Amino acid sequence: MAALNELKALRDYYNTGSIKEYDFRIKQLKKLKAAIENSEEELYAALYKDLKKSKEECWITENGFVISELNNTIKKLSGWMKRKTVGTNLLNMPAKSFIIPEPLGVVLIISPWNYPLNLLFTPLIGAMAAGNCVVLKSSEFAAATSAAMKKIIEETFEPGYILFVEGDGAKVVPDMMDNFSFDHIFYTGSTNVGKIIYESAAKRLVPVTLELGGKSPCIVESDADIKVAARRIMMTKFSNAGQMCVAPDYVLVHASKKEMLVDEMKKTLSSFFGADAKQSNDFGKIINEKQFDRLLGYLKDGKIIQGGNNDKNALYIEPTLMDEIKMDAPIMSEEIFGPILPIISFSKEEEAIAIIEKNKNPLAFYVFTGSSAKEDYWLNRVAFGGGCVNNASVHLTNHRLPFGGRGFSGTGQYHGKFSFATFSHYKAILKSPTWLDPSVKYPPYGGRLNLLKWIIK
Ligand code: NAD
Repeated sequence: MAALNELKALRDYYNTGSIKEYDFRIKQLKKLKAAIENSEEELYAALYKDLKKSKEECWITENGFVISELNNTIKKLSGWMKRKTVGTNLLNMPAKSFIIPEPLGVVLIISPWNYPLNLLFTPLIGAMAAGNCVVLKSSEFAAATSAAMKKIIEETFEPGYILFVEGDGAKVVPDMMDNFSFDHIFYTGSTNVGKIIYESAAKRLVPVTLELGGKSPCIVESDADIKVAARRIMMTKFSNAGQMCVAPDYVLVHASKKEMLVDEMKKTLSSFFGADAKQSNDFGKIINEKQFDRLLGYLKDGKIIQGGNNDKNALYIEPTLMDEIKMDAPIMSEEIFGPILPIISFSKEEEAIAIIEKNKNPLAFYVFTGSSAKEDYWLNRVAFGGGCVNNASVHLTNHRLPFGGRGFSGTGQYHGKFSFATFSHYKAILKSPTWLDPSVKYPPYGGRLNLLKWIIK
C-alpha cells in the first residue's frame, strides 16, 4: 500500500510546475520508451509466465502496442499541447476566444490482468503526455508482469512523479482514496468493481474513466463472406485464450449460414492451433484456477460441438465452440472472458436484437456482411462502445479511433489524442479588449429587447 507521505510527494511534485513543460513531458515519454525497449526480453518472459503469450502476440497486443502509442504521442504532443483559437460570438465582439489544455493533477490508473502491460502503460502514456503525476495500480493476478513493470517505473522515474503500487485492489485502492484526493481515476476491469469505484469517486466528486467489460456480440449475416468471417472471428476470439475485453462473446449467425460457418470455424481452428492446441505456441493459458473453474461451469450450458478438453494443472481449456445454448443460463448472462464461443442462429433481425438487449451497451459489436444496407441497419440499431465491420477487435489497434464503452460497458475514451484529452482539462478563455466598451451592454436594458434578439440567436 502507498504510504500517505508517498502520495503527498506526488502532489508536491506536481505543484512545482515543471511537469507542465513540453520539454519535461517529451523527455519522460522518451525515457519510458527506452526503458520498455531495454526490457523487451524480460517483459516477454513475464507475459509468458502469467498468460503463456508468445512473443508475436506480445508485440501485437502488449509491448509493441505500447511502443506504437508512444511513437504517436511523441510525434503529436507539441500540437496537442497548443492552445487552440476558436471563433467568438457576436454578443462578445470584439474579443478573442481560446482553449488551453492543462493537466488534471495527480491521477490514479488501475488495471486488470488480461493485458497487464498494455492496460496500465497505454493510459499512463496519455496521463504523462497531458502533464500529470501518476499512481499506477497493477493487477495482483499477473504478478510476473507487475514485477517487471514496477522495475521499469522505479528505475526510470522519480517516485514523486510516478508511483507504482501493488496489492489487493479491494484494500489498496479504498485506502488510497480515503486518504488522498485524486484528480482523476482511470479504471479498467470488471463492471462490478467499476460500480464500486464510481460510487466511491462520486462521494468525493473525483472524475472517472471506466473501461469495463460486457458481452460483445458478433453478427454474421446471410450475405457475409463466411470463410473470412470464420478466420477473423477465430483469430480474435482465441487470442489470449479468449481473455480479451473486446473478444466476440457470442456469435449470432443467420440460420441459412450456420452450418457453413461452424464447418469453416472447425477447419480454421485446426489450421491455427494444430490437432492439440495445448502444444501450440499461439494459444495461451487461463490466468488462474478461479477463472478456470468459472469457465468450466459454462460447458454445461449448451452442447459442445468442438473442443471442451481441459487440464487444470496446465490451466488449459481447448478452443471450444458450443451450440444449443440454454438462453437463460449463466453463459448468456455473464461475460465469458475465455476460450468458449456460443453460436446461436437467428432468422429475423428482431430475434438477434432481443438477445443483444438482454446485456445492454456491449463494449464492442461486430457485423459481417456484404451489404451496406445491413451494415447501416446493425450499426444504427445497437448502442455499443466501438466495433468493426467484417472484422473483430482490431478497431482498438488504430490510435486514431477513440476506444471506450458506453453505459454498462464504461464511460470515457482513450488512445492517441483521446488519451491526452481524457487526462487534460480544457480551460476556456474569452479575452476582451478594453478599448471598446459600449454602454449598450450594461443596464438599464429597457427597450433593447429587439437589439438583443438580433444579437443573440
Ligand atoms: P477486476 O475488476 O477484478 O480488477 C481490476 C483491477 O481492480 C485490479 O487491479 C484489482 O486489484 C482492482 N480491484 C479489485 N477490487 C477492487 C475494489 N474493490 N476497489 C478498487 N479496486 C479493485 O477485473 P479483472 O478480473 O482484473 O479484469 C477482467 C474484467 O476487465 C473483464 O470484465 C473485462 O471485460 C474487463 N476489461 C475491460 C477492458 C476495457 O478496455 N474495457 C480491458 C480489459 C479488461
